[in-house]
Amino acid sequence: MAAKKPFKARKTRERAPAPTKKIGPPLIPNHALEVEYRKELYQLVLEAVLPMRALREGYAEDRLTVSSMALLKKKAFTLAAKFVRKSNAYSRNRMWTVIEELGKELTVGVAELSATLRNQVVANVDLITGLAAESQEKLTKLFQENGPDQAKTYADLQEYVGNRAKLIATDQNAKIFTSLNTERMVGSGLKTFEWDHSSAGKVPRPCHVKRDGHTFSLEGGPSELRWPDGSDANSAFGGKRGDEGKPGWAINCRCRMRPSVSLDD
Ligand SMILES: [Zn+2]
Repeated sequence: MAAKKPFKARKTRERAPAPTKKIGPPLIPNHALEVEYRKELYQLVLEAVLPMRALREGYAEDRLTVSSMALLKKKAFTLAAKFVRKSNAYSRNRMWTVIEELGKELTVGVAELSATLRNQVVANVDLITGLAAESQEKLTKLFQENGPDQAKTYADLQEYVGNRAKLIATDQNAKIFTSLNTERMVGSGLKTFEWDHSSAGKVPRPCHVKRDGHTFSLEGGPSELRWPDGSDANSAFGGKRGDEGKPGWAINCRCRMRPSVSLDD
């Protein structure tokens, strides 16, 4: 039966199907930026919570003093502003190439993004000062637990601050990148993206794995996910709270967006 296929069918099969859409590359956050932010964040918090006096006396207050908190806030602002500025420059460069590749023009400038950038700086200052406050409490507990063993207290505190700094840096690097890219793409006339699941995460979210290759709308904030017709997609494939948002929004999510353009547009 297979040998008797009509000539016409064979001919259409030989021709490549006309593409209906163009898909850009996956948008991958800048790892070097994440590492830099993590290191500086770690250093800043450690210095704030462990002054030499605490080590000498083997004792720490369970809260940072008003003046050391004020100083930390200033330094945190400088650090967060630098990180957000660099993230923004990276997003702009990346979007410049990708949007052009898809046949559109990047039309969103820094002025349009200023509110978003400001909010991200503020959010990061809060995360840094929050981490310092928690680390200070942790230090008090460590002094109590470890007694005179100050080397252990110091090592334990380093580990605690290091782990938390990594979590914050990874998460913020992905979130900021997703949110700035989304604004740039929407503002430049792009409408959809394909979900790209990266297998790099240790514990992949099942619903994120299932979303791989599906097309979603760029509409809405980074914590929203919608189908191309505008209907909600955050619960798609069994998505729960904590899985929500566009790729890179959920905590530790390493999924990516691949912007796409329908050629019928
Ligand atoms: Zn994911």
